[in-house]
Amino acid sequence: MKIFLSLYLVLAVILAQFFAAYFFSKGRTSYRKAFSALVLCISIYLFGYIMIINASNLQEMIFWNQFQYFGLPFIAILWLLVALLYTKTIYSLKTGTALLLFAIPAISFFMRLTNHWHRFFYIDWEIRQFAGYSSLYMARGFWYYVNISYAILCLFLTVIVYFVGYLRNKAGYTKSHFMVFFFASLLPLIGIGLILFAFDERSIDYSALIMPVSLLVITYGILKYDFLEIKTLARETIFENNLAGMVVLGPGKRIIDYNKAAEKFFEAMNISLDNHPIEQILNQEPKLLKIFDSEASHDFSLEIDGQKRFFEIDAVPLGDAHDGNARLLKSIRDVTEERKIQEKLKFLATTDSLSGLYNRAEFMNLTQREFVWAKRNNEELSLLIMDLDNFKNINDTFGHVAGDEIIREMGNLIKSSFRKTDIAGRIGGEEFAVVLKNASLEEAKKVAEQFRETVARSKVIYGKQEISFTVSIGVAAIRGNHDEINEITDILKIADDALYKAKAMGRNCVFTLESG
Ligand code: GH3
Ligand code: MG
Ligand code: MG
Repeated sequence: MKIFLSLYLVLAVILAQFFAAYFFSKGRTSYRKAFSALVLCISIYLFGYIMIINASNLQEMIFWNQFQYFGLPFIAILWLLVALLYTKTIYSLKTGTALLLFAIPAISFFMRLTNHWHRFFYIDWEIRQFAGYSSLYMARGFWYYVNISYAILCLFLTVIVYFVGYLRNKAGYTKSHFMVFFFASLLPLIGIGLILFAFDERSIDYSALIMPVSLLVITYGILKYDFLEIKTLARETIFENNLAGMVVLGPGKRIIDYNKAAEKFFEAMNISLDNHPIEQILNQEPKLLKIFDSEASHDFSLEIDGQKRFFEIDAVPLGDAHDGNARLLKSIRDVTEERKIQEKLKFLATTDSLSGLYNRAEFMNLTQREFVWAKRNNEELSLLIMDLDNFKNINDTFGHVAGDEIIREMGNLIKSSFRKTDIAGRIGGEEFAVVLKNASLEEAKKVAEQFRETVARSKVIYGKQEISFTVSIGVAAIRGNHDEINEITDILKIADDALYKAKAMGRNCVFTLESG
């Protein structure tokens, strides 16, 4: 029996020593340092107890009892400190407070050390036989009671601290942790109670027997909690510093949490987020409120520091919402740069870089759309196809670069001569086309004639030379849905044929097939 008990305690001491060293080496937080000191004291106390139960005479027993007091008086207060720091009831310990808290344990230590002079701690001791074993019986002096009362007070407070921590904490895992610690701290308290009030004559140190169990539980808990704390911390950091704004909406669409980016987003609208339903916060911004009320993805634009910025607002449901009280994570992503790049890409893909007009593909695209719309709505629509005259000669005479200059100038002339709503494109090397919405053939012809004259009057200055150039134009039109032209290719063909005729007529002229 004694051998098992000794073995159990030896194991506890080794473990305690190990944890003391481990937590000391990793003592980044104050509760780890306090815990390291606590397990060290416990190991001293337990080691003393092992030696006492294995001692052969009174002298030895008294010696090892004295040894125990190098750790014993400090255990309870350290236990309390760990609880206070661990539950974040306090964050650090001021020197003054520490001195005060450790005063009674320190005095107990000296009282026990000098006991043989005054006998305030133990009045007397003797060996008692119990079931064949000898145990150390001590008659307690008044300071013994002061010491143990203080220990009981500390442990009692510890139990309360963990219990309050349990009640206050919302997060599930910390809550259950505190519950475990609550019971782990209750055990030594019960141990002391037994020492004081029960089976006194057997002189069994119940708290020494219980202590290793509590110790193991708490060590396990702290290691696990540390891990979870780091995980939680990492998640919190990611949430807080995310480039996307995040707002957590709880039941009733009440704002529960938000990060820095979200704060900045709302600050730009002079809205401060606090723990209110979203309706109340966004009552001045009905458009944004609608977005926040919806669970779909939405676009939103906003002027920040004089610059228009674009946002994509998404919703991610949190947990299931069977009770109809959806909890949502709204994310607000600044997509301004993406939009700018998209616009640039779109511009590059649809615009001819030389003339600045639409390229052939985009022109066909837009014309097709316009053609279908005009057909469906019985609207008039005209098409001009223009080709620069004798451009080969211009290239040959002035060079290709001069030819490019003329194509660029044609772009400018077209842009300044037609309406903003007209669709103009460069559809070939020196071939251009313009769609005139709501224009009859007669009107289109007139416009084409004016433009032909504009081109004929203009000059491009290249180096020291002035280059004149002319254009031939073929015109076609549809007149609502009474027309036999049903495909866009039909009208393109008619305009092309007209252009061909214009060239045949000597160039620098406008031709329409009907009037031709
Ligand atoms: P026509 O009056 O019958 O149209 O005579 P043209 O010489 O203009 O004949 P055509 O339209 O068949 O020839 C087009 C010429 O335009 C051929 C090519 O050298 C030139 N060209 C086509 N694209 C470009 C360009 O991007 N830059 C320059 N400088 N020349 C081009
Ligand atoms: Mg041509
Ligand atoms: Mg030509």
